[in-house]
Amino acid sequence: MVTLVAVSDAPKKGGTSSSEKISASETVPGPILLLGAPGSGKGTQGKSMAASWGIPQISTGDILRENRARGTALGKAAEKLMGEGKLAPDDLVNKMVAERLAQPDTARGFVLDGYPRTLPQAEWLERSLAQRADAQRVDGQAETTVPALAAIAVNIRVSYTELLRRITGRRNCPTCHRIYNVYLKPPQVDTVCDVDGTPLVARADDVETVFEERMRVYDAQTAPVVEHYRAGDRFIEVDGERPADEVAAAITAGIERFRTEERLRNLF
Ligand code: ADP
Ligand code: AMP
Repeated sequence: MVTLVAVSDAPKKGGTSSSEKISASETVPGPILLLGAPGSGKGTQGKSMAASWGIPQISTGDILRENRARGTALGKAAEKLMGEGKLAPDDLVNKMVAERLAQPDTARGFVLDGYPRTLPQAEWLERSLAQRADAQRVDGQAETTVPALAAIAVNIRVSYTELLRRITGRRNCPTCHRIYNVYLKPPQVDTVCDVDGTPLVARADDVETVFEERMRVYDAQTAPVVEHYRAGDRFIEVDGERPADEVAAAITAGIERFRTEERLRNLF
């Protein structure tokens, strides 16, 4: 197993490494796992990464909310748990992710936002990605498709007090799904979306009492997932309290460094 240098979010001083001479546009991002507590900025960063790399952002929370809105069996099964700040069952979420990853738009990469959130989900995902990589190698497509690339885990670190402020101030556009914040990123006019004028809404679970439970669940079930990836060889951690564009730049630089080093290794 090859161990890559862990990427810090500290600014780099001077000099250009050989890996940085390969342009960003050549980067095939592959599977990216966005980890972090509720409100840490996964959705904000996931959307930005998806736009800059032309890959899908796959938010398990969004898929569950869509199912809830459509009244599907999946949505009904998850509704009560979501309202209480608890996690949906692993087998249900894993199946949902399997279906989404089978779609062709995931070929060059994808951002998993809010998944995996438990160790069994992480184990399931690793098995699933390994199986896909094997299947692609048999087909002779490993050079051009994502499953051959190992997942990079990105942890967005934000303090409890800041998370609470972000969660209670969060507003979403139900039409285009842009994310706002009444304190930190308000819309230009009243409480309507800048882009399509739709009235913004607050999520039912973005209240302090449910947030507290979501944080308890995060500490018990998701913090061990972060430690699992930290102990691995493709882990990036960023300071999520910096402005969103700086967080995005730190994540992008880390991912490009990992992928470029992989490409250089395969060349020689
Ligand atoms: P998550 O998907 O992790 O729950 P979001 O991306 O929805 O988090 O962000 C939570 C709230 O914090 C949103 O209201 C968003 O506008 C705001 N936010 C996200 N990133 C930043 C940042 N770097 N600085 C300030 N506010 C942010
Ligand atoms: P999020 O939009 O990521 O904040 O998720 C909202 C809610 O959806 C969570 O509080 C959980 O109830 C549920 N959920 C989202 N992702 C997962 C996951 N990977 N595993 C279990 N439940 C999830």
